[in-house]
Amino acid sequence: MIVVMMGLPGSGKSRTASRLENRGFKIITLGNLLRDEIANSEEKAKKLLPIIERAELVDDELICKLIEENFDKEADTVFDGFPKNKNQAEWLKKFLKKQGKKISVVLHFDFTEEEMYERLKGRQICKKCQMVYHEKNFPSIDGIHCDNCSEMLIHKIDDEPDRLKKKLEIYRTETKPVIEEYKDLGLAKVIDATQSAVDMYYEVMESNKRFLMRIH
Ligand code: ADP
Repeated sequence: MIVVMMGLPGSGKSRTASRLENRGFKIITLGNLLRDEIANSEEKAKKLLPIIERAELVDDELICKLIEENFDKEADTVFDGFPKNKNQAEWLKKFLKKQGKKISVVLHFDFTEEEMYERLKGRQICKKCQMVYHEKNFPSIDGIHCDNCSEMLIHKIDDEPDRLKKKLEIYRTETKPVIEEYKDLGLAKVIDATQSAVDMYYEVMESNKRFLMRIH
């Protein structure tokens, strides 16, 4: 099963992805793969950090290479943060076809930009394992350390206003048209991202019968 998760920052994609991971899905999160590239190579860090700091899109060639390297044909896979533009969507379609696969469902985590700003105000991330928390809606046990690995939680630098503005611009101009295309193809399911994490997860489970066949 191939799942694509799309939506504004803070709409609950990563939280839903970690629930799906507990159920045996392989999660391919582009933001995390890029952070790993930066941590492992000074040369790549030099090239990638300025782009990520400006919240611009990294070039499609590297993104597609990272997908290729991390894709496991045997695994049920969730793509988080990919595709973000038409070129990546086209590439994904061809890539999956070569593997004899296709997208099973696109989950569109939908809420307003106002709702997004409200959510991001309290968002925290674990420095080590990247688990995402929220001060009010989804706090860790003590509110300052990660429940998984006890590392300190920090506010995501991506959530600063200038970066958010850039991300929104890219979302409106490049990502939204891809979501519309998936809707036209009948592949996209709208998930109400204003709900609690648990309700959102149940809505995801009900969005496609293959989730139920696979999990229950
Ligand atoms: P988000 O998914 O909320 O935009 P991430 O933490 O996943 O944030 O990504 C951080 C940064 O990594 C983005 O601002 C962008 O620079 C880069 N990035 C992530 N996914 C992609 C992608 N599919 N294509 C190009 N760049 C990407």
